[in-house]
Amino acid sequence: MINLKKLAILGSTGSIGTQTLQVVDQFPEQFKVELLVAHSNWQLLLEQARRYQPKWVVLTEESAYQRFCAENRDASLVVRYGMDSVLAALDALQLDMVVGAMMGAAGIAPTLKALELGIDIGLANKETLVSGGSLVRKAQQKSGAKIIPIDSEHSAIFQCMEGEKTCARRILLTASGGPFRNMPMEQLKQVTPAQALKHPNWSMGRKITIDSATLMNKGLEVIEANWLFETDYDDIKVLVHPQSIVHSMVEYGDGSVLAHLGRADMRIPIQYALTWPARKDNSLEKLDFTKLAGLEFFEPEWEKFPALSLAFEAGRTGKSATAVLNAANEIAVAAFLENRLSFLGIPKLVEDVLNHHNLVDIESFEQLLEIDQWARLQAESLIKEYHQ
Ligand code: NDP
Ligand code: MG
Repeated sequence: MINLKKLAILGSTGSIGTQTLQVVDQFPEQFKVELLVAHSNWQLLLEQARRYQPKWVVLTEESAYQRFCAENRDASLVVRYGMDSVLAALDALQLDMVVGAMMGAAGIAPTLKALELGIDIGLANKETLVSGGSLVRKAQQKSGAKIIPIDSEHSAIFQCMEGEKTCARRILLTASGGPFRNMPMEQLKQVTPAQALKHPNWSMGRKITIDSATLMNKGLEVIEANWLFETDYDDIKVLVHPQSIVHSMVEYGDGSVLAHLGRADMRIPIQYALTWPARKDNSLEKLDFTKLAGLEFFEPEWEKFPALSLAFEAGRTGKSATAVLNAANEIAVAAFLENRLSFLGIPKLVEDVLNHHNLVDIESFEQLLEIDQWARLQAESLIKEYHQ
């Protein structure tokens, strides 16, 4: 009998989490889901628990946990509340892989824990690397656990670098350009959350969809690429590619460029991370080149989308700058979605918080949490000042 790969899915109720379960459905003889973690969506978690029969589920929102407990009829299922319980579950279950698909910096603690335990991670949750990259690197080096990227661009780069990482010269990171690529700068002032939530090519969670509209998502991905592939910022080139067919490319010193192409379907990179180093057939629709109208590549509009330069700058600055960038952006996006901040206010707020910050080296998780909290409080107080 083949050994089943035992999985934990952190953020199982989200866009990546539910698509991960669809991949699991395709390979029932390969994977066994042992742990599901969600925040608020107890109804969907309950359905998932009934279907996949994990040993543990954890909810990180208390009222959702209580509702789950009230409705759950499976006495053998371990149901817990809170981040400490997520860490306890990672400890208790003999896992082979953790899928990091939570939203935001909440993913840092379980990612570090999994790496410390030597468990490989399929990582979608880019904020963890942006904020805690140095701690993640240390934990990974200590245990030797692997991080296999799920973010489509990074999965593409990872695949283009297989076996040839050391001689790669440059990363060409593609970006769709988001829904406002053709909108004049002047009109960006009036953009509403409903407009920003309409991504042209991908259906994703709300936070990453807004990040895609500001191009902060690409900025976060630049920092993510720097940590994952140890590529200098000068050697990461962002290219706007509105068709989202080329998921990224790697340029080599001999002039060869390797590209990864595919349909815009996250189940492809999720599956690759889960089955790596093997590549498995699946029944997903394949790319039809005769139906492609053309592939275009443009320089990003730096002035129109300042979030991208802010991220490059924070990445080059290093130390605590990227943790501050990430935390301020999380607050800015939430405030924009609640109509408390304008669209152009998002990069402005991030820049203002960075300007108020005194850089430090990040030595521990506790210190990172303090900096993250400081940036969130600073961002909230600046939003209040903007309205005075
Ligand atoms: P969603 O918003 O769809 O899902 C987020 C998941 O995280 C949900 O399960 C949610 O639980 C959970 N969650 C939210 N807040 C918390 C919290 N404070 N503590 C613990 N869990 C929490 O996001 P996506 O699936 O789109 O994105 C997840 C991650 O993957 C992000 O980091 C994103 O950048 C990255 N990513 C996503 C891509 C995509 O195509 N969607 C592509 C590449 C990367 P609940 O729903 O129960 O409240
Ligand atoms: Mg991406």
